[in-house]
Amino acid sequence: MGNPDFGLDFSFLKSSLINERIAFTGGCIGGASLNCINFVVAMNLCPCGYFPDLGKCRCSLLERKRYMGRVSGPLLDRMDICITVEPPEIGAIIRDGRKTGQTGSKEMAERVKTARRIQKERYEGTEILYNSHLTGEMIKKHCKLDRPTEKMLGEIFRQRDLSPRAYYRTLKLSRTVADLEGSGRIEKEHVIEALSYTSGLDIFSKGAMDKI
Ligand SMILES: [Zn+2]
Repeated sequence: MGNPDFGLDFSFLKSSLINERIAFTGGCIGGASLNCINFVVAMNLCPCGYFPDLGKCRCSLLERKRYMGRVSGPLLDRMDICITVEPPEIGAIIRDGRKTGQTGSKEMAERVKTARRIQKERYEGTEILYNSHLTGEMIKKHCKLDRPTEKMLGEIFRQRDLSPRAYYRTLKLSRTVADLEGSGRIEKEHVIEALSYTSGLDIFSKGAMDKI
C-alpha cells in the first residue's frame, strides 16, 4: 500500500477481500484468487513517514488523521495480521540483522513448513488448505479453547469492542501459532501471541492519534 494518499479509492479492496478475488482494471484486466495469494501491504503512519517519532515528524495532527483515515475500518477488519514495525537498532544492522535469542529465518522457515504439513493432514479430504480458510462450524471444531482462555478472550473483546470477524480471526491465528509450536491444543499463550499480531490496529482506533 505504501502511501495511501496517492488518490486511489481503497474501498475496492474491501469488496475484493469479501469476494476473495481481486480484479485489476484500467489497461490490465484480470483476476487472482485470494485463496492462492498472500495479501501483504505496508504503509507509513503519516505523510512525511516519521510518525510516531514526534522529534522528526513534520505533519500536523489533522494531516495525520486525514492520512490514516484513508484506510477504512471494514478494510482493516479483514486483515489477519497488523503490526507496527520499529526501525532496526544500529547494533542489529552491524550484526547483520541477527539478535541473540531470536528465531532465525532458516529455523522459522522450517517451522512454517511443519505447520503447513500439520494443516494439510488436518484438513485432508476437505477444501480447506490453511487455517485462514476456516469458516463457521470448522472454526468451532478446530479452534477450541479451554474455558479460562475462552473467558479471557471474550473479556478482551468486550473491553475493546471488537467485531465477531476479529474474534474468529484471532481464533484462526491462535490455531496457526499453536501449529507453529507443534501443539495440538490451543493454549492461552498462543491466543496472547495471536492478539499481539493485531496490535497494529490500535493506532487506527478512535482517538489513538490524540494520545500520542
Ligand atoms: Zn509526519
